[in-house]
Amino acid sequence: MSEVRVRIAPSPSGNLHVGTARTALFNYLFAKKNNGKFVLRIEDTDAERTSQAYIDNIFDSLKALGLNWDEGPDVGGEYGPYTQSERFDIYPKYAQMLLDNGFAYECFCTPEELEHEKEVATANKQAYVYSKKCEHLTPEEKAKLIAEGRKPAIRFNISKAQKAFHPTSELSFNDLVKGELKQNTDLFGDFVIMKSNGTPTYNFAVVVDDMLMKISHIIRGEDHISNTFKQILIYEALGAEVPKFGHLGMILAPDRSKLSKRHGATAVSEFVEKGYLTEALINFVALLGWSPSDGEEIKTVDEIAKDFRIGDVSSSNSIFEYDKLNWMNSHYIKMLDIETLKEKLKPFLTKYDLSELTDAQYTRMVEVTREPLVILSDITDAVPYFFGETVEIEPEVQRDVLDTEVSQEVLKEFAKQAKDWEFEEENLHEKLEVFRGEFKEKGIKPKQTMWAIRAAVTGRTRGADMTATLAILGKDKVLKRVEKAIK
Ligand code: GLU
Repeated sequence: MSEVRVRIAPSPSGNLHVGTARTALFNYLFAKKNNGKFVLRIEDTDAERTSQAYIDNIFDSLKALGLNWDEGPDVGGEYGPYTQSERFDIYPKYAQMLLDNGFAYECFCTPEELEHEKEVATANKQAYVYSKKCEHLTPEEKAKLIAEGRKPAIRFNISKAQKAFHPTSELSFNDLVKGELKQNTDLFGDFVIMKSNGTPTYNFAVVVDDMLMKISHIIRGEDHISNTFKQILIYEALGAEVPKFGHLGMILAPDRSKLSKRHGATAVSEFVEKGYLTEALINFVALLGWSPSDGEEIKTVDEIAKDFRIGDVSSSNSIFEYDKLNWMNSHYIKMLDIETLKEKLKPFLTKYDLSELTDAQYTRMVEVTREPLVILSDITDAVPYFFGETVEIEPEVQRDVLDTEVSQEVLKEFAKQAKDWEFEEENLHEKLEVFRGEFKEKGIKPKQTMWAIRAAVTGRTRGADMTATLAILGKDKVLKRVEKAIK
């Protein structure tokens, strides 16, 4: 196989998980690095767990992350269709090939019979493997069972394949990430490759598809290692070339358990809805198991692609540090140009009437509130005082700031003077300086003076630059709010 061809093959039984995004990224990087092709295949053989909404989510999330595929369900390609449910007519031919060459056989066992075998194994404290009861059924016996209305499943004769291609019971392969991996395949038992209803099982469909799609390297999670041993033997039984495999360590939560909803977001779209930037997310995900040669962690996908080598990927598990993602996201927010940031913040400002602000005012509001943003949705609670005529005063602010004699004095004086000011930032800056100076002479600290004004105008003791805030709000709103705060 000369051309490098890799794939991501998600099952649409949920929204695109960050773990799948990482697998997709590593495949994408491997393809880029080797001038290869990156294929998307949708593995929707389990109709009950599949939904169109999940398929759309997978497409949208991969696109949002910039992981564009060269071949796939929507863009097509030489080896389509790229959706397994559209390939159901392909699999029986290859199952028949295995029946013909003796590496598969029909199995007529009922679910009850199989359940019984399992119970016996459990009672004897043995690991269950199928008994091979149907391996040598004669044509007459089969005809009888069919006449009874039974439909056969097809099982792969794994022990036969093992003996034919690797004369011991041990199978080993050289993993691109983990080095040599070995397994005694006797432990698997003859597994079903085609169900009695005619649909292929995962291990079979994946081999047929990867073979026909000429996939050269299979990079996926280490939870598939035991499948890989089964799949290698199926390739060999089909007389096909076995691709190279690389298995990535798992992604664990900070408490070292499996990353799940209780730890926080897990789907790419959930992160996006919370206000993570896809640039930050993809950069962060790249560092789960890979590190840049120059130690500089902030990198674009193109930069990572130049530096990426599959052999450098760590074989151990990675911890999904939400704190680190947050740090990275805040960094990426800081790097956004103002116009882009203004657009990206809009979905998080829908509870406010943005038409209250001119474009210039909105720009200034974003400029003075962007600094502490960790995720875009932080903007929602950072800006309520820029909207509406009045403002909600936090109870402690009322008690500790506005109700004091000093504040009342400051506000009365402010109302008197500010009605003659021009509410333009530079001018306000000068006026406020003089204003603070006057109170300082009366023994009131500049900080206290400003606190009183901030509390009356924003209802808070902390927030955006005060001069800018006053200028954005304008004289009318500011004076209304100050009058309201005066007793
Ligand atoms: N559909 C499988 C999954 O989502 C693909 C595994 C593979 O890469 O072979 O886990």
